Amino acid sequence: MTEQHKDIYPVRDEFAQQAWIDRDAYQKLYRQSIDDPDSFWAEQAKRIDWIKTPTKIKNTKFSASDVDIRWFEDGTLNACYNCLDRHLEKRGNQTAIIWEGDDPKDDKTLTYRELYERTCQMANALKELGIKKGDTVTLYMPMIPEAAMAMLACARIGAVHSVVFGGFSPDALAQRINGAQSKVVITADESARGGKFVPLKDNVDAALTRDGTDVVESVLVVKRTGGEIDWNERDIWFHELVDKQDKDCPVEEMAAEDPLFILYTSGSTGAPKGMMHTTGGYLTFAAITHQYVFDYHEGDVYWCTADVGWVTGHSYIVYGPLANGAITLMFEGVPSYPTPGRMGEIVDKHQVNILYTAPTAIRALRAHGDDVMASSKRESLKLLGSVGEPINPEAWEWYYRIIGNSKCPIVDTWWQTENGGILISPLPGATDLKPGCATNPFFGVKPGVVDNDGNLLEGATEGNLVILDAWPGIARSIWNDHERFIQTYFSTYDGMYFTGDGCRRDEDGDYWITGRVDDVLNISGHRMGTAEIESSLVAHEAVAEAAVVGFPHDIKGQGIYIYVTLNDDFDPSDELKKELVQWVRKDIGPIASPDVIQWTPDLPKTRSGKIMRRILRKIAANETEGLGDTSTLSNPAVVEELIANRVNR
Ligand code: ATP
Ligand code: MG
Repeated sequence: MTEQHKDIYPVRDEFAQQAWIDRDAYQKLYRQSIDDPDSFWAEQAKRIDWIKTPTKIKNTKFSASDVDIRWFEDGTLNACYNCLDRHLEKRGNQTAIIWEGDDPKDDKTLTYRELYERTCQMANALKELGIKKGDTVTLYMPMIPEAAMAMLACARIGAVHSVVFGGFSPDALAQRINGAQSKVVITADESARGGKFVPLKDNVDAALTRDGTDVVESVLVVKRTGGEIDWNERDIWFHELVDKQDKDCPVEEMAAEDPLFILYTSGSTGAPKGMMHTTGGYLTFAAITHQYVFDYHEGDVYWCTADVGWVTGHSYIVYGPLANGAITLMFEGVPSYPTPGRMGEIVDKHQVNILYTAPTAIRALRAHGDDVMASSKRESLKLLGSVGEPINPEAWEWYYRIIGNSKCPIVDTWWQTENGGILISPLPGATDLKPGCATNPFFGVKPGVVDNDGNLLEGATEGNLVILDAWPGIARSIWNDHERFIQTYFSTYDGMYFTGDGCRRDEDGDYWITGRVDDVLNISGHRMGTAEIESSLVAHEAVAEAAVVGFPHDIKGQGIYIYVTLNDDFDPSDELKKELVQWVRKDIGPIASPDVIQWTPDLPKTRSGKIMRRILRKIAANETEGLGDTSTLSNPAVVEELIANRVNR
């Protein structure tokens, strides 16, 4: 165990005094949420404007033979109404969305009223295209306000949106269009990312030549860059159809359990799963977690750097913040363009108070050295957040010290596409922070740690992370495949939701995510998570990023194969390899001694920025034939390079 793992950053009094939830409130509300979920969630449902107030609160079954999850089932509401209409009286002229373009010269703001009017026009346009309640609409869009409007416009008329990340290939898009059977696709001519243009419309055209996509009748095209595109009979310019529509559109009354959206997981561990989320429970959960985890107060400028193509973008750029009447910043580009310091510059420019980003972005910045943030002051920041992967303690400290000027609490939020919202995270006014630790369950979330036979383990322990009861934000099914939903999440341990992640619970009862269960190493009979060894390596001054996988080993059962990316100022050498081996042995113990180290300029990542260890595992084992589903890989070229430079023991 490294020294820094033991560091604690206690809650500061000034922060606790102004926070929504302090230590006592957390204890009291958490107990209530577990002991009496009906009364807790009936109270929390009041943060939503219901058309018909629910009287039945929780009705959920978690068992391998029957998974049936219903929250607020006799209530009716409209999600778009809750994100827009109800704010108009008080916040009509307040900014809803700050948009920052890929080019630092491009930005704009939209008030709640402007967003409302545009969304209504868009909803009317969808109706004109024949979209009705229950139909699905596929969105393949840049990070522009029209993406949020399109989501809200669907919600307004009861259509189910399926957002496909704009970095996906035509094949991946075609699969998702086919899966959702959408009559309408909304896209743009091109998106602008990092100074490059991505041909979204061309990709849609290509996708629609694939099998199973002839269901598409119309493609609505936002003019973003004005780049050249082909034009087909089914294509319609967004502005031509939308501008002429009425700025009022009645909302559709939806049952709490009517579907709100379909969204695919990142595809880190296999073929992505199309999760189905419903309306009432999802929105309640997105709103409450956004308010309490980020300690959001009226007027705060809040920036989540995710793409709307991921669940983080759904819950924490669009639905959570807008349901809370927040100011949400939407960024079109990539954090390193045009200069590595861009993220800090955006914070200064828009006086961002709350910044929510991913470990991969933090590690990439840190690789440039501490001066990378010199072009900004970031004095407006009050709180930082992290999501997507375990954050290595060293990267956490850097985030805290360099980006947050050593004054902002960091919320390390653990959750999944399947969860709808944050499940395990510090609450900044209530929880002492430990770098690399997701700490405590959110209200209504009952985590458990089980061994491989499904026995619940008590006290300080390590094992598989499960959730023992339903919370309002959980996905209800996999779209059109309830069997796979049960199989994937509820069959491993009967009566429990299995997360697929490993975790450790320490003496204080805090949860540390140790990595995917599939990635757990078994070295001479000792089980070890990948996160710990990777964090040890990242703590070495030369290492920017590391990925650890097991490979078949005659004596130890599994050996440790490590892929390392170095910081800008360091070069690969055999001496450095030896030094890193000694470093890990000293830090964790001889049992964790690396057998193989391979240098690489980059690691294979999902398009949401997560290290794809299953590919690294195959390369380490020299099974480079069947690499599995690689359609979600953001940098396929690196795979060839990794195979070519594979180190033979
Ligand atoms: P797939 O399910 O298709 O393999 P995925 O699991 O990467 O892809 P997501 O739903 O985007 O898809 O990611 C959820 C996973 O991300 C979690 O199960 C966990 O492994 C990881 N994760 C997210 N946040 C954290 C965090 N704060 N700490 C540790 N791990 C995290
Ligand atoms: Mg997953």
